[in-house]
Amino acid sequence: MVVGSGPNGLVAAVTLARAGRRVLLLEAAGRFGGALRSGELTLPGRVHDFGATVMAMALASPAFRGLELKGVEFVHPPLPAAHPLDGRPAVLVHRDPVRTAAGLGRDARAWLATAGATARGGLPLVELLLKPLGPWGGLPLSAFAGAARFGAAALLPATTFARRAFRTTEARALLAGMAAHSVLDLRSPVSAGYGLLLASLAHLVGWPLVRGGSQVLADALVAELRALGGEAVTGHRVRRLSELRAPVVVLDVTPRQLLAMADHLPAAYRRRLERYRYGPGVFKLDWALDGPVPWRDPAVAGAGTVHLGGTLEEIALSEAEAAAGRVSPRPYVLVVQPYAADPARGGHTLWAYCHVPNGSRADRTAAVEAQIERYAPGFRDRVLARHAMGPAELEAFDANLVGGDISGGLSSLTQFLRRPVWSPAPWRTPLPGVFLCSAATPPGGGAHGMGGWQAARLALRP
Ligand SMILES: Cc1cc2nc3c(=O)[nH]c(=O)nc-3n(C[C@H](O)[C@H](O)[C@H](O)COP(=O)(O)OP(=O)(O)OC[C@H]3O[C@@H](n4cnc5c(N)ncnc54)[C@H](O)[C@@H]3O)c2cc1C
Repeated sequence: MVVGSGPNGLVAAVTLARAGRRVLLLEAAGRFGGALRSGELTLPGRVHDFGATVMAMALASPAFRGLELKGVEFVHPPLPAAHPLDGRPAVLVHRDPVRTAAGLGRDARAWLATAGATARGGLPLVELLLKPLGPWGGLPLSAFAGAARFGAAALLPATTFARRAFRTTEARALLAGMAAHSVLDLRSPVSAGYGLLLASLAHLVGWPLVRGGSQVLADALVAELRALGGEAVTGHRVRRLSELRAPVVVLDVTPRQLLAMADHLPAAYRRRLERYRYGPGVFKLDWALDGPVPWRDPAVAGAGTVHLGGTLEEIALSEAEAAAGRVSPRPYVLVVQPYAADPARGGHTLWAYCHVPNGSRADRTAAVEAQIERYAPGFRDRVLARHAMGPAELEAFDANLVGGDISGGLSSLTQFLRRPVWSPAPWRTPLPGVFLCSAATPPGGGAHGMGGWQAARLALRP
C-alpha cells in the first residue's frame, strides 16, 4: 500500500507493481500528483502548474529514466534560464556551457571549470548525487572522482564559493540565483552545491517542462500503475496507520505527519523525528497574461526560468531574511514562463514564487510584481488575472508542504543525509513493513522520484 501520490509515492507504487506486487495507492486530494498537479488557476482554459514545473530533476533522475512513460514529452525553451541585472544585459544560460561562459567575460574559464566541469561529469555523476547513500553498483569510477571534486566546492556556502570562484557581478549573481533554489541562507554550507548541480543540469539535460503541464507526468504514472494491475484512489486521507492492513506500507508523508499518524513509534525514533527541521516557505503566484512579459532585455523572452533579485549581495540578503523569519522588501523571485517552451497551455501564463518565513501569512503579491516590473516595465498592464497561494494555502493543497516548505524539510548540510534520521537506509522506519518515501528522505526536494524508488527497493528486499 502506498499513501500519497506525489512523484515519490507514484514512483514507489509503479516500482512495486512492476515487481509483481498488488498495489493500492491512497491519495488525500481530489487529484493525483501532489506538487506535480496542474489546473485552471486563473481563467478557463489556462493551464497552470501548482507546484513543480521545471523538470530537470525528472529528466536526469534514474528513477524516471527507468520507467519510459508513454505520453510524456519534455519540451525545452530556447534558453534554460536568464538572470536580468539592472543597467546591463541579462546573463543568459544556454544549454551549451561554452556559449554560457562566453557571456561571462573574465569569468568564462571559471564557469567552465566549475559548473561546466560538473556537467562534464555526465549523468553518472548526477545519479551518484541523487543516490548519496547508494546503491552505487554499475556507476563508473569517474563518477566518484567527479563527486569528490564536486564535493569540495559544493560544501561551501554559495556566497563564499561565488566570491572565490568568480570576479564578475554577472557570474556571482548567476550562481546566487541558482543556489537560492535550495531555500537556504546562502551563507550556509552546501548552498553552493545546489547552485552548481542545477547549473550543470541546465547544460547536461536542460531545464524542460512537460508539454501540457506537470499533471501529464503524474497522470502517466497513474496510468502505468493501473496498466500493471494496481489500484489508485483519490479523496482518501489516511489519518492513522492502524487503518491500513497491508504487509508493506510506503508513506509519501513528512515526519510531522508520520508523528501524527503512528500510535506506536519507538520513543527514540519519535524524538529524532521531532528534531527534524522544516525550512522557509514560499509565496506562489500564477498569472494569466494577455501577451509575453515585456522584458527590458528582449533576450530574456527565450528563457524558461528567470531569476530576479539582482546581484549576489542582494539575493543573499533576501534569502538571509527568509531564513531569519523576516520578509524581504526586495525578494529573490523565481519566475517560469511556460509559453517559452510550451504553447499548449491556453495562452500566456506566468508562474513565480518568492521565499518567506515558514508559515508566514504575509501577502507578497505587490513585492513580487514590483521585482518583475523592475526588469519588465509594463508587466502589470499585461495581467488579466492572478492567483496567489501563501504557506497556509499550499499546506491545505498538499499536507507535505508544511508551513509552505516545498522541499519536505530544510535542505541543510546535516539534513542532506540525516533525512529524516541518520541511518544507512533512512527510508526504513522502525515499524515492520512501514517505509517513508517523501522529499523528507534523501536526496530531498525535487520532482525526481528517487525517495520512492529507494523505499520501494527496500520494501522489495526479501
Ligand atoms: C510551488 C512549488 C514549486 C516547485 N517547483 C519545482 C520545480 O520546478 N522542479 C522540481 O523538481 N521540484 C519543484 N518543487 C518541489 C517538488 O514538487 C517536490 O519536492 C516534490 O513534489 C516532492 O514529492 P513528494 O512525492 O515527496 O511529495 P508531494 O509532491 O508533496 O506529494 C505528497 C502527496 O501525498 C498526499 N498525502 C499527504 N498526506 C496524506 C495522507 N495522510 N493520506 C493520503 N495522502 C496524503 C498529498 O495530498 C500529496 O498528493 C516545487 C514544489 C512546489 C510546492
